[in-house]
Amino acid sequence: MTRAVSVTAPAKINLSLGVGPRRDDGFHPLATVYQAIGLYDEVSVVQADEVSVEVRAHDRLPAGDVPTDARNIAVAAARLLAEHHGVERGARIVIDKRIPVAGGMAGGSADAAATLVACDRLWDLGSTRDELAGLAARLGSDVPFALVGGTAIGSGRGEVVTPLMTLGSYWWVVLESPRGLSTPAVYRELDAMRESSEVGPPEIPDALLKALRGHDVADLGAALSNDLQPAALRLRPELQEALAVGLAHSAHGAVVSGSGPSCLFLCEARSQAVQVADGLAGSGLGPVSFAPGPVHGARVVAKEA
Ligand code: ATP
Repeated sequence: MTRAVSVTAPAKINLSLGVGPRRDDGFHPLATVYQAIGLYDEVSVVQADEVSVEVRAHDRLPAGDVPTDARNIAVAAARLLAEHHGVERGARIVIDKRIPVAGGMAGGSADAAATLVACDRLWDLGSTRDELAGLAARLGSDVPFALVGGTAIGSGRGEVVTPLMTLGSYWWVVLESPRGLSTPAVYRELDAMRESSEVGPPEIPDALLKALRGHDVADLGAALSNDLQPAALRLRPELQEALAVGLAHSAHGAVVSGSGPSCLFLCEARSQAVQVADGLAGSGLGPVSFAPGPVHGARVVAKEA
């Protein structure tokens, strides 16, 4: 029996995020292009009688906002996996958190995906990729993508993931916010803004897919889009200036990440990312980092037999 497993899972960004009208069940249909970027949470699991979780967050992150009981999505992931296989198992889960909390980068979903992969190996369950994807979709809309990573189209609520074959990679500068934004609050704001208008089905811009196929960074920058951005900017008006500062420092494109408040700036190379990050660091809006994308999804990085 394996005694300890560590798995990393990446933050996600949305190169485009089309949001359709609110459905009767409260969800919004999405058409999105995901990309996984090189900013990772690491989830380590060891054998234990019960499922429990500890969160060790990087200094800059508000660790107190992450629950350490059954509300933590990693605990839900471990329990769902055991239930699916009809077994009773425990694990001590330790999350090393580097992905912003409530930052629109699906950090919780990354932890859920990493926990599924880690516990599957720890408990020698041998789940197939399809089985894990099915469990992931039950845990949350962004969890299936965190399993596969890369660049992919998301449809349904985002849980139907179709990988895209794309050329080359990019660099992303990430401006975090000291305070997170609640995803449901951003959707509510969007619904209120749309109250008097007819909203069509969500779409992925052709220009975005063309830019990705041709690895054209300028065209990709121009095609970045996010239907949640106007709502996030209403709740956090200061982000508008942050987006402008990044563009003024030569970023090829700037967009709010998912439901925000993290902001993303597209760069061609690491050297350009350093330049944009330096420019943004002076804005005082929050911590700045940079990472390449696309990167792999959840994967085992260490194992102790
Ligand atoms: P969403 O995935 O809804 O777009 P997000 O990416 O903005 O959200 P997350 O960091 O995933 O934000 O967390 C959203 C909320 O989920 C947090 O405020 C926290 O209360 C709760 N949560 C539960 N489990 C975790 C976890 N393992 N890591 C982070 N947050 C978690």
